[in-house]
Amino acid sequence: MVKRLIFLGPPGAGKGTQAQILAKIYQIPHISTGDILRQAVAEQTSLGQKAKDYMDKGELVPDELILDLIRERLSLADTANGWILDGFPRNVSQAEFLDKLLTELDLTPDCILNLEVPDEVLITRLLERKRGDDNEATIRRRLEVYHRDTVPVIDFYTQKGTLKAVDGNLTLEEVTAGLQKAIAD
Ligand code: AMP
Repeated sequence: MVKRLIFLGPPGAGKGTQAQILAKIYQIPHISTGDILRQAVAEQTSLGQKAKDYMDKGELVPDELILDLIRERLSLADTANGWILDGFPRNVSQAEFLDKLLTELDLTPDCILNLEVPDEVLITRLLERKRGDDNEATIRRRLEVYHRDTVPVIDFYTQKGTLKAVDGNLTLEEVTAGLQKAIAD
């Protein structure tokens, strides 16, 4: 069955891990803008060179670096069965762009999921994780940027009446079960 899933949640909520699990369960590609950008940085492509400083500081990279990338990614053949979008949209202008793009492609998302985890738990989890952009100053900045830019995306989808909240402060298996239930409902 085709599944098009938009997966929202703060940094450190376990989105990447859960998105990978859901991608396997539903046999759909896991499209993570963070992974795409980290790969571009590692390969030192022109995208990677432009994105690196923003990522190191915990800022969002400018929309113009992301939007064409998403348009191209969502037109590849492996998206016929659907996809799970992880890390996009990150602000309201990206959400509006995605809305328009999906209308253009004549597609509707099946489910918009919001993984909820309290801030104090996120900081502990992020400090335990060992990624290049996971030092304390960057973590705090990423959370600020999340509250400023990404929380309005939650409001955007809540107003449309399409958002499903899932408790992310449980065991890995419980969170997966919660997500599957939200997707099936
Ligand atoms: P993530 O792996 O989703 O936590 O993303 C890591 C970093 O990549 C973020 O802190 C941003 O600098 C950048 N990034 C990822 N996705 C986006 C996006 N949709 N828009 C802007 N920047 C992004």
